[in-house]
Amino acid sequence: MSLLQIVKYPNPVLKKRAVEIEKVSSELVLLMDDMAETMYAAPGVGLAAPQVGVSKRICVIDVTVADKTEGKKSNLIQIANPVIVESEGEIEWEEGCLSVPEFTIKTKRKAHMVVEGLSKDNKKLRIEADGLLSVAFQHEIDHLDGKLLIDRASSIKREMYLKTKKGVMI
Ligand code: ZN
Repeated sequence: MSLLQIVKYPNPVLKKRAVEIEKVSSELVLLMDDMAETMYAAPGVGLAAPQVGVSKRICVIDVTVADKTEGKKSNLIQIANPVIVESEGEIEWEEGCLSVPEFTIKTKRKAHMVVEGLSKDNKKLRIEADGLLSVAFQHEIDHLDGKLLIDRASSIKREMYLKTKKGVMI
């Protein structure tokens, strides 16, 4: 496995809609593993393929990175073509992004959701997500649609590009 370079705003790959995967090939399995390693090293709780310059609908998430409880087991999700099939409730979160360093913004997201997609071994995945995991899925799917956290900010805030670093890096 190897660490990948995380591309930063305003790299144009971050603004493109990523393409669906037909089948998770062995190359894409390697990509998913390298993405996980890159996410852990950052550290962040999620990473989408466009963030490593690959415009494909793949993301990795492990929200246990943000949970400092001792002995907490990791829970790595590696998924292709994630789609939100159900969602409800609302949650506010102070979000950051590995591709937009030193920028955080309070977002309103769905609190609960069900996501479906394809696993590393081409099986159908169905994941129920709450709290930070739900926020992380929405953040990563935004990346796959070419949407960035900074697009949610007012133009003034975008200009100021706040120099705070208190949110989680997704
Ligand atoms: Zn991000």
